[in-house]
Amino acid sequence: MPTFEEARKIILDNVTPLGAERVETLESLGRVLSEDVVAPRDMPLWDNTAMDGYAVRSEDCRESTILQLTGFLPAGGNMTETVRRGTAVKILTGAPIPPGADAVVPFEEVDEADGHVAIRVSVKRGDNIRFKGEDVKAGETILPVGTVLRPSEISMLASFGKLFVPVHRRVRVAVLSTGDELLEPGEPLEPGKIVNSNSLALAAAVVQAGAVPVMLGIARDNKESLREKLAEGLKADVLITSAGVSAGDRDYVRDVLDELQVRQVFWKVDIKPGRPTAFALRDGKPVFSLPGNPVSSLLTFEEFVRPALLKMMGHRRVLRPLITATLREDIQKKPGRVNFVRVALERENGEYFARSSGKQATGFLKTLLLADGIAVIPVEKGELKAGDQVDVQLIAGDGGLMEA
Ligand code: AMP
Ligand code: MG
Repeated sequence: MPTFEEARKIILDNVTPLGAERVETLESLGRVLSEDVVAPRDMPLWDNTAMDGYAVRSEDCRESTILQLTGFLPAGGNMTETVRRGTAVKILTGAPIPPGADAVVPFEEVDEADGHVAIRVSVKRGDNIRFKGEDVKAGETILPVGTVLRPSEISMLASFGKLFVPVHRRVRVAVLSTGDELLEPGEPLEPGKIVNSNSLALAAAVVQAGAVPVMLGIARDNKESLREKLAEGLKADVLITSAGVSAGDRDYVRDVLDELQVRQVFWKVDIKPGRPTAFALRDGKPVFSLPGNPVSSLLTFEEFVRPALLKMMGHRRVLRPLITATLREDIQKKPGRVNFVRVALERENGEYFARSSGKQATGFLKTLLLADGIAVIPVEKGELKAGDQVDVQLIAGDGGLMEA
């Protein structure tokens, strides 16, 4: 049975980025560049003013001086006449520096009256000018392959006039729930039956990872039903199943996958919760069989499936940021397995503190709702005491964590 780290490494070693496609620039948000983007031109395109003010010849302004105002240049304007000795041109932010001028004096430092301006400060060549190519040079690899596209990257692409962007394809992920006890959400309840919450939960996690879920519904606990649904699922890029992989009498998922030439890589990982997780491959296509318990299936998705999907979509950073937090209370654990503990976090004086977000038995979904992070407690650790430090994966992002 692999350890947590071994299992994750085996999975990541067995998946590779999918091909690329060109999408409209706005559609590329959150996606990963599949090719380098080289700046086709300088940015800025020409020398321009960073301030509203007066374009001058700096040599005219060694000490306080009066210049004749000869023109006005708003943003979007362009001027071909040269700014001559002893003259100035009123200029608004972003306008190109007119020929002859080599500095801009901001409004605040000038008195204007009767067609003249009195400059009250000394002026150096280049003051308040944004120079051609100062930000980006033509030919520079401004966005390397593997870049995750955020609004700032979209801004750069837009300023280069890019209407389409080459990105890695989104992964299509088939989601299948299994079990005779399952009803779809909205169906009338019946004794002994439970609602299939895993399909929507896992699909939501797929969407959040930036991939595309393909809903397969429910397969029943018999081989015919499983054969049909699993074969359908193998048409997607990745197949995820939930439940039916323990050692119960009707846990046929692994048998049927085997019939369908899906090669099992591992079954069971030394973790808690989520031990009955299986990973298999058919011609390089990953198949994840997750436990049925709603908490376990989401946690194992988080730990194993999400990183794989991200790698397949070209991401280089596939794991959540880890922080170190100090425990506010004792946490029960036996040595021997990695434990994932759902924790609520607080920040105080720039430090993180963690407490259990509720009952840790896997039946309690609410504990996951209340969690800001997953504390990953190493194999060898026994019971943890208040004051001990733990590594915590931030699942909610830390944006919402306010100082107490
Ligand atoms: P199993 O892995 O088949 O032994 O299922 C473990 C537990 O998860 C059982 O209590 C199931 O009823 C529950 N379960 C299985 N599938 C789902 C599902 N799709 N949605 C919600 N709970 C489920
Ligand atoms: Mg079952």
